Amino acid sequence: MKSIIFTGLSAAAVACACFALPAQAAGEAKNVIFFLGDGMGPTTVTASRIYKYGETGKLNMESLKRTARVKTYSNDAQTTDSAPSMSAYMTGVKMNNEVISMSADTKASDSTGKAYVTSAGDSTCPGGNGTPVATVLELAKAAGKSVGAVTTTRATHATPAATYSHVCHRDGENNIAAQAAPGNAAYNTALKDGLDVLLGGGRRQFLPSAAGGKRTDGVDLTTQFPGYTYVTTGTALKTVDPAATNKLLGLFNMDHLNYELDRVKSNIDEPSLADMTEKAIRILQKNGNGYFLMVEGGRIDHALHGTNAKRALEDTIAFDDAIKRALSMVDLSNTMIVVTADHDHTMTINGYSHRGNPILGTVTDIKTKQPATAADGLPYTTLVFGNGGSPRKTPRDNPALVDTTADGYLQEVGVNLGAPGSETHGGGDVMLFSTGPGNAALKGTIDNTKVFGVVKSALGL
Ligand SMILES: [Zn+2]
Repeated sequence: MKSIIFTGLSAAAVACACFALPAQAAGEAKNVIFFLGDGMGPTTVTASRIYKYGETGKLNMESLKRTARVKTYSNDAQTTDSAPSMSAYMTGVKMNNEVISMSADTKASDSTGKAYVTSAGDSTCPGGNGTPVATVLELAKAAGKSVGAVTTTRATHATPAATYSHVCHRDGENNIAAQAAPGNAAYNTALKDGLDVLLGGGRRQFLPSAAGGKRTDGVDLTTQFPGYTYVTTGTALKTVDPAATNKLLGLFNMDHLNYELDRVKSNIDEPSLADMTEKAIRILQKNGNGYFLMVEGGRIDHALHGTNAKRALEDTIAFDDAIKRALSMVDLSNTMIVVTADHDHTMTINGYSHRGNPILGTVTDIKTKQPATAADGLPYTTLVFGNGGSPRKTPRDNPALVDTTADGYLQEVGVNLGAPGSETHGGGDVMLFSTGPGNAALKGTIDNTKVFGVVKSALGL
């Protein structure tokens, strides 16, 4: 190829144009908000877009101009679970499945495959089994920034846990809770004066068994957050004055928060993810040194495990609404926004339906707009899963005779794994959307570990 020679610009004009390029120096982002849609693979993004905005519409996350494709395999598995993938984003280290923010040599179970955790949620990790690795949240805290984690799952579930705790098996949630409590002996001192905001579910991990919780040590951890405002309902969260609150603990359910569909339909007194995100930002942004906030749409994953596409799409929209809320509140000249997922699922979009066909409906013929049929002569749904616990029957139920858009409809699956909720994660790559200073390297096909380095250097840590 011939070289191209510009003739119309003087040397001075070229130098001037170079000067005009925006500086992309490390440390230019004062704040980072890291949005994680648990299990929100590319198909879930597409299906949610069609569900809410139609084929030509756009999710709020899709307004972020810079995109990347992210490889999510873990240290020991082709298909990751949430623990090592979120840990990779937060620490830059690929670790084994089930491990939370520990070194790559950390094992989640013994040589017989027995997990290092009791059924009550107490860790049995032996000494010498790996070492903690610093998370970007801890590094931000050490640099004088405020930090927070917000989720719709238990606050001790794998994704939020990977931001602020270290344990060899993700199910050691009683230990994870103790690591967040500044007044407890097992507190993670790398959090300095503590998470400034922690919002989600999972009260059971903070309460003793005598109070209906899971703790076997008899401790009420909610009393070991000195200086914190503690709330347990959506109504109470609304009354929290960010100007007068520097530390906030909100545990709005004993277990995970309800799915968005149920929260709204049944008028449950839990906050929306958008409202939690707004409250967190208002508290954290008071710090002149900036902040790091992680926001998880955590129940997208659970609905997908249950092959209940409708609840997954509704929770994805709620997650996307939280992104919209954040975008409306922050200064994008000093705040980096990252939106991604920890792994895919096995949901796929079937057939050649005509445009405008409901994404939760059955596949149609483009021309006739009548149901297309499978080899057995029966219609089939647009969304199906590669595996799961809602198997095809032989003969199949006729999808034309049931409402496939009903709240409780479970999509058909290819491989029958038997138990309800058993659909597996997918091993495919996920999307990453970003905007704001320091995000230039978040493009192309990258490893999840690389995201850590970009965020860290953007914050100047
Ligand atoms: Zn999952």
